[in-house]
Amino acid sequence: DGGGNVRVVVRVRAFLPREIERRAQCLISMDPITQMTILHAPGDDDPANSRAKSRKVIEEKSFTFDSSFWSHNMKDRHYAHQEDVYNSLGEDFLDHNFEGYHTCIFAYGQTGSGKSYTMMGTHEQPGLIPRTCEDLFQRIEAAQNETPNISYHVRVSYFEVYNEHVRDLLVPVVPNQPPYYLKIRESPVEGPYVKDLTEVPVRNFREILRYMKAGDASRTTASTKMNDTSSRSHAVFTIMLKQIHHDMETDETTERSSRIRLVDLAGSERAKSTEATGARLREGSNINKSLTTLGRVIAALAEPKTSRPGKRSREVVPYRDSILTWLLKDSLGGNSKTAMIACIAPSDYEETLSTLRYADQAKRIRTRAVVNQDHIS
Ligand code: ADP
Ligand code: MG
Repeated sequence: DGGGNVRVVVRVRAFLPREIERRAQCLISMDPITQMTILHAPGDDDPANSRAKSRKVIEEKSFTFDSSFWSHNMKDRHYAHQEDVYNSLGEDFLDHNFEGYHTCIFAYGQTGSGKSYTMMGTHEQPGLIPRTCEDLFQRIEAAQNETPNISYHVRVSYFEVYNEHVRDLLVPVVPNQPPYYLKIRESPVEGPYVKDLTEVPVRNFREILRYMKAGDASRTTASTKMNDTSSRSHAVFTIMLKQIHHDMETDETTERSSRIRLVDLAGSERAKSTEATGARLREGSNINKSLTTLGRVIAALAEPKTSRPGKRSREVVPYRDSILTWLLKDSLGGNSKTAMIACIAPSDYEETLSTLRYADQAKRIRTRAVVNQDHIS
């Protein structure tokens, strides 16, 4: 059955050197049994949280998500490694893809909270994306020996949404050339898509990894050139898996197509608009339209259906108000099994509270995934 709620998990990272330097306190605790995440009030001696304190929003808050990943203290026996995150979430989602479902996993959180670490990871500690790619080809290779009547076709694309423009990350950046942006189209069958986006066929893990790295390098190069960090851009890595099954007995051919979307969102602090205060308010250009719209889309989807007859609340979901939400329409409220990873820093009360509230709202969203299967002959 493909109907279900968005799966929401939370992950807290370790202290960074600058946090250790200022003797930051960890405001997060997680209960390994109940999966409850608690955000504690900061103490009096923590200058980093003085703004929260001055605004008197300093209560202890607790939330329950589908999983809580404790990646704060490596020595703890409950420490969640990259592998644990993959085993708990990535693997299930890949099962769904082989069953023919579209999936989407997106990482949400403030800049520096561990989104890219969780999605992409490092060479030594690969994240969800490389692990999904590796597992995908391991499964395909195993299946090719066992079930020769199924053939597998994998394609990959990688783009970013930056300042409401779509940039193809698999097209190399040309030095001293203005960036080249792609347009969005909507097809009645496939829904919104990026026109002329590079989609490359890949035959093995090594190849897909090469594209992943090239795309990532392109994202970094461009953002450095624009004197910025990746905190403003949304990166969408997509794997298309097609399974063509030929039934020897009936001589029928069926095709199953699934889309695996893995999204590293811009820093959530960019979503603040009117509520932004202090330094951020002055940086007007920091407000990220796709991110604020994502918040509105999630709020609309999370709200219970209106009781007014004939007026479904789905109709007012503002997908088309931003590039990202338009493109992710299906993943957010349609044909997809979807998960959100809320990444949190250990000692930032206000941003963490905002992320946890956002995640709490996302839990209420239901999607309706279907197996994407067609008889082709
Ligand atoms: P974001 O993408 O949300 O801006 P990053 O993923 O770049 O944040 O993480 C910020 C820093 O914290 C990086 O140096 C990263 O390596 C480190 N980091 C994040 N999460 C973890 C973790 N679970 N374990 C170890 N280091 C982490
Ligand atoms: Mg990042």
